[in-house]
Amino acid sequence: MRSWLLACAALVAACSGGEPSGGAYRGPIIDMHLHAYPVAFAAGAPICPGDQGMPILPLDPNEEFTPELLSRGCPEPLIAPATDEEALRLTLAQFGQHDIRRAVTSGAIGDVLRWREASERIVPAVGFATEDNYSVEQLRAMHARGEVAVFAEVLAQYRGIAADDERLEPFFALAEELDVPVGVHIGEGPPASGRFPGYESYRVSLSSALQLENVLQRHPRLRIYVMHYGSPLVDDMLAMMFAYPNLYVDVSANNWGMPRREFYDHLQRMIDAGFEQRIMYGSDQMIWPDAIGESIAAINDAPFLSADQKRLIFYANAARFLRLTPEEIAADHAPQ
Ligand SMILES: [Zn+2]
Repeated sequence: MRSWLLACAALVAACSGGEPSGGAYRGPIIDMHLHAYPVAFAAGAPICPGDQGMPILPLDPNEEFTPELLSRGCPEPLIAPATDEEALRLTLAQFGQHDIRRAVTSGAIGDVLRWREASERIVPAVGFATEDNYSVEQLRAMHARGEVAVFAEVLAQYRGIAADDERLEPFFALAEELDVPVGVHIGEGPPASGRFPGYESYRVSLSSALQLENVLQRHPRLRIYVMHYGSPLVDDMLAMMFAYPNLYVDVSANNWGMPRREFYDHLQRMIDAGFEQRIMYGSDQMIWPDAIGESIAAINDAPFLSADQKRLIFYANAARFLRLTPEEIAADHAPQ
């Protein structure tokens, strides 16, 4: 440990990431967490961005919960588009506006492929333990056809299944065998998920990144990232990243849907713990395309991040994780 510290002292810039900078990052972005969801998911629904605070109002247990309660009192909610075409068009417009060159995009395979046809910037992804219940053989075949580049979003937590449950074991084995990156949701569900219709099997008690330990021991060559960094149990995430240097995180959803100060507290702890090279930007845009701009602003406005740390989070860490070639990286930096 001591010689490591001395080596760090000699390379201050590399170890500290430099000084905080108020400037906005200018350069290509990789979004590690986008969704091609049909707007039927919640067409026209409002959602409150986190920088306006998230008032989860107290609810009398005799009262009925309705999702509308969550945006009550929100001054400027984001509004979901009315049609699938509009959701796609507005999302691609965000790509152009913010120079998003690649976006790992998950959903049902038909929707994902439709988006991929609309833009080569879509990196197609399909998860396991999803509602669609893809089998190992289906995922193997989709990957062989070039339809799937990432296995994400693994939604086991939404189904009440721990990541190290033996039912998921063949899927992690497949990802390791094929060298396909895996993104696992570990963190919050929707606000008030305990009362939210449709989320009855989601379990808060599966929020800890510690449940990946058996998976990482069994599959040491996995490329794996925790979507939402196991929020809010950041201690568990830090412990796992310290022990498993191949474990990455994305900061999606928390960067636009949670109160900004709460998100900054989490992000700063991961930065201060020394993990600036394993934190990746993601939006978790579901059917609110404006969430992309909100989530980018949250990183750019973080007062404790240096210019170099923003570059790592927005692009370089994901480029390394996805094993982009020098040619692909050069192409991403060419003018749009
Ligand atoms: Zn998620």
